[in-house]
Amino acid sequence: MNPAPAVVTHGGAGAPSRFSDGCRRAADAAMAVVENGGSALDAAVAAAVILEDDPRFNAGTGCVLREDGKTIEADAGLMDSAGRIGAVAAISGVKNPVLVARRVVETRHFLLAGEGAAAFARRHGLCTGNPPTGKALAEFSGEACDTVGAVVRDRAGSFAAASSTGGIRSAMVGRVGDSPLPGCGYWAGPAGAVTATGHGEEIARRLLCRTVYGFLESGTPPEAACRQGVALFPRETSIGILAVTRTAHGSAANRDMAHAVLL
Ligand code: ASP
Repeated sequence: MNPAPAVVTHGGAGAPSRFSDGCRRAADAAMAVVENGGSALDAAVAAAVILEDDPRFNAGTGCVLREDGKTIEADAGLMDSAGRIGAVAAISGVKNPVLVARRVVETRHFLLAGEGAAAFARRHGLCTGNPPTGKALAEFSGEACDTVGAVVRDRAGSFAAASSTGGIRSAMVGRVGDSPLPGCGYWAGPAGAVTATGHGEEIARRLLCRTVYGFLESGTPPEAACRQGVALFPRETSIGILAVTRTAHGSAANRDMAHAVLL
């Protein structure tokens, strides 16, 4: 029997729970894709687009500024259980970085960065709409939150994970975090899908999403696997993790983390 679909979305470790309505809208969009027979990968993208368009979150429209006070650079990545990967790093002038990452899946590469990534987006007509300007950040100053992400199980039993971010606040121009790096900010395979939010440098040091995926592979239920992942970090390092498997889903964070679950 085919598994029931499942979607879990988040608005970042540190995003107040009252922003969970945005995560719920994102989960609804993803569920609509899988209900119509779409893939987990396209559903995860649909969720991330909604979150990128919500200026309360630090991704797409809501991207935070770099330390120069004017530059916006975004990272996004996604992967499905067939091993398809697409990502962009330090991309500017693009409203929905996750859509560019989705297009990268169709190329012979997995990650495009900087000006080359922006040129690729332009060639594919993915620079439509207003690119982020930092205005949204000013409107929501003090409450701009972290990376957004989604994990999905579709009706065929495939899994996908997506992640999108403006990076950590006041980062150097050119800094790239965990979000576009497979195994760090996201991972998917036959055992499920995992996505993470939090301090990218620390996430990368622990290869966090591949590590948590390993817990899933060895039979740890996703809720416990996410908790074990969070426990790898000291309390002062903000971390949030989502996971989905064939039979269950889970989330854990050491901060408030706006999120939504749709089964
Ligand atoms: N992980 C993201 C980064 O380090 C930021 C975040 O999730 O808060 O770029």
